[in-house]
Amino acid sequence: MARADTRPIVIVGAGIGGLTAALALLRAGFPVVVAEQAAALGELGAGLTLAPNGSRVLEALGLGERLRRIACLPGIGAIRHWRTGEAFSTSDRGGAAARFGAPYCQVHRADLHAILAEAVLAYGPHRLLLDHRFAGCLDEGGAVGVRFANGATLDARSLIGADGARSAVRAQLLNASSPEFTGYCAWRGLAPVAALPPGTLDYPSCLYVGPHRMFARYLVRGGELVNFVAAVREPRWRLESWSARGDPAEVLAAFAGFHAPVRAILGAVPPDSLHKWALYSREPLLQWVAGRVGLLGDAAHPMLPFMGQGAVMAIEDAMVLARAFAAEPDDPAAALARYQRARLERATLVQRQSAARGLALLAADPDDYGRRPTVNEDTLGLFEYDATAVAV
Ligand SMILES: Cc1cc2nc3c(=O)[nH]c(=O)nc-3n(C[C@H](O)[C@H](O)[C@H](O)COP(=O)(O)OP(=O)(O)OC[C@H]3O[C@@H](n4cnc5c(N)ncnc54)[C@H](O)[C@@H]3O)c2cc1C
Repeated sequence: MARADTRPIVIVGAGIGGLTAALALLRAGFPVVVAEQAAALGELGAGLTLAPNGSRVLEALGLGERLRRIACLPGIGAIRHWRTGEAFSTSDRGGAAARFGAPYCQVHRADLHAILAEAVLAYGPHRLLLDHRFAGCLDEGGAVGVRFANGATLDARSLIGADGARSAVRAQLLNASSPEFTGYCAWRGLAPVAALPPGTLDYPSCLYVGPHRMFARYLVRGGELVNFVAAVREPRWRLESWSARGDPAEVLAAFAGFHAPVRAILGAVPPDSLHKWALYSREPLLQWVAGRVGLLGDAAHPMLPFMGQGAVMAIEDAMVLARAFAAEPDDPAAALARYQRARLERATLVQRQSAARGLALLAADPDDYGRRPTVNEDTLGLFEYDATAVAV
């Protein structure tokens, strides 16, 4: 493989997407630098479901053993009535490894982020620049000049914007509008299992469907903590910031009348681990790349969280991106065109279906949920996708 150009591929953003892309490219033999705006590496104190289509990629990147150490495997998951707790349906998440060749995992985001960062930093501390906020770029003369708010500059073979839903790289590349408030808000939190009354966690993981509300919970950190997402449809609600510290009394009031174990979990969450989010989304983009500059993860396709696939899509993107560069080692624009061709349709489908799933889960009348046809990540066959092998 020719490697005439020694300039790095610069990735803006050290989130789950940016770090996975860095690792996949480094393993494929490319020089990479990740530039992160934060002064210290870190992730939100919240859980993440990592479906087989994501864990398959992490295994291929050599992280299988470390992933197994940090992951909880949920076994049976249930979809339930909000008030009675009756199960509308159950699914065997524990059987995913046998069925799809990769496990369905539930992890603490910070734990996943830490193993990705460690794997990237094993290639040298110079691979990661903190306190580097992207300020602009110029794709000219066979290279991309990248500027940062701290005054630093980099000369890049290619630039990848993995800088999240409010991507500054996207704003410059496509002049695309920012995501819009969807009318959904979500509280996320972690409650210590030891503080819960016996019997609270009858199913290892479950999702309650309520009137314009849903509550999902699962275990992380070796079963010490229960992670939850409690979402409501509140089109009139507005936040100054899109993420804020949550008020325990507010979330308890919003979920009054829910099955007692839901209220027990909400009541046990330490206030400093409760966060409230306004959920933003955008119409799918028709283009994620231009010349030597491309987008990945939420920067390319921010989506509602109702299929638990946002980070997993970023992980799939990362693997396909590295394979596209391996196929076109000396032509970054051609590599990015291959990447976009391979990924755009799938990510757009998941973006649209995640929004449709939100409407189904947070409908006005949940009582007949079990009788309505269900379209979800299982019925769509999302777990079968293999980013390590799809045509690129
Ligand atoms: C309530 C909720 C629950 C969710 N649950 C799941 C789930 O269970 N499973 C799942 O797969 N997904 C889930 N998601 C989606 C998931 O969180 C995102 O899709 C994922 O984090 C996107 O990763 P990313 O790396 O693309 O972006 P981000 O995680 O947003 O990372 C972007 C990085 O870029 C940095 N950055 C931003 N701007 C700049 C700049 N100008 N210069 C330099 N750096 C910059 C940021 O500091 C950050 O480190 C959920 C989302 C929400 C809101």
